[in-house]
Amino acid sequence: MTDSASTPATPTTSAPGYHLIETRLQEKLDNGTTRCNLCLWRCKLSHGQRGFCQAHVNRNGTLYNLSYGILSAIAIDRIEDKPVRHFRPGTRVMSVGSYGCNFRCGGCHNLEISWGVTALDELAKGQSTAAFVTPEELVQAALRHNVDGIAFTYSEPAVWLEYVVDASKLARDAGLYTVYVSNSFVTDEAMELMAPHIDVLCSDIKSLSDEFYRQICPVGSVQQVLHCIKKAQELGIHVEVRTNIIPGKNDNMEELQRIAAWIKDNLGESTPWHITRFFPAYKLSHVPATPSETLWAAHGLAKKTGLKHSYVYDDKGCDCATENQPVHVYLQQDAQAVHQVKKCSASCCGDEGVLLKKYERDSA
Ligand code: SF4
Ligand code: SF4
Repeated sequence: MTDSASTPATPTTSAPGYHLIETRLQEKLDNGTTRCNLCLWRCKLSHGQRGFCQAHVNRNGTLYNLSYGILSAIAIDRIEDKPVRHFRPGTRVMSVGSYGCNFRCGGCHNLEISWGVTALDELAKGQSTAAFVTPEELVQAALRHNVDGIAFTYSEPAVWLEYVVDASKLARDAGLYTVYVSNSFVTDEAMELMAPHIDVLCSDIKSLSDEFYRQICPVGSVQQVLHCIKKAQELGIHVEVRTNIIPGKNDNMEELQRIAAWIKDNLGESTPWHITRFFPAYKLSHVPATPSETLWAAHGLAKKTGLKHSYVYDDKGCDCATENQPVHVYLQQDAQAVHQVKKCSASCCGDEGVLLKKYERDSA
């Protein structure tokens, strides 16, 4: 396997603007097939194919990240809103996300900005007007807005880890901390790549049921997620855990107690557990919001189990970005400049950034 850019990712040409960046953890196989080892899907892709997250594409035997520098949302919040309570409390953080996720949660609130199917299609076709922001520009924007850290959130950051790592290095040099909000379906290799540069992991434990995980990620299992969270802590990242309780899906009290016990036994009794409320969305629009009593019952179980810090969020669900201001509001450019059409300016493809077999075929 190669970390194809063990130094900061470099664009494929020196031209400014949007570039495809080689996927960091890719493994070249036979016949131009390449495996992505960023997340536990470990997608095996041949020329023209995109991974499950839609954000990585095989182009003539090399994998590229389509979404490097492409921002779907920015917001400025308190770190407690991530939710993170035991790292630099009272400070402010600039949250950013990109398009593409490795899960398909039935209750996802962020479909347009997290799965970003349309946005990633547009990037692949060279028709995107999504904001492109270099790591340097992101850090400058954060400093201009006088925040203390940068959080990578809104979808799974592993699917644009190339950008997360580059931006995090610069953020640290500039005195900013970094937060990684994750579903923790991430490979050991990716965790090792990011660990030196990330200060905080806020990870979901969505359930302790394999069945629950398989519904949102057919190749997923609870043990893989738990392993990843433990690994992050072993690598020195400050870890906090979140469970969004969904009525009828993961609100069984015995299971919730087992989550609390797992956190205590594996991460330590001082590890914070954030218990958040589900709000109806997408395929779970028919499911009611979580009753307060359920959230507080879970909190009671956490105390009984010996967890010292559990927090209930009656008014907060997933780390959602649906009501954010437009991205260009946070950047030092007008909307028109930010939202110009993005075509990959690299010359390697020779077809103006049209990346996928299906679009080549369609336009032939
Ligand atoms: S990040 Fe995950 S889902 Fe996306 S291409 Fe890589 S292995 Fe597949
Ligand atoms: S809820 Fe989070 S992990 Fe699940 S699909 Fe949405 S962004 Fe991805």
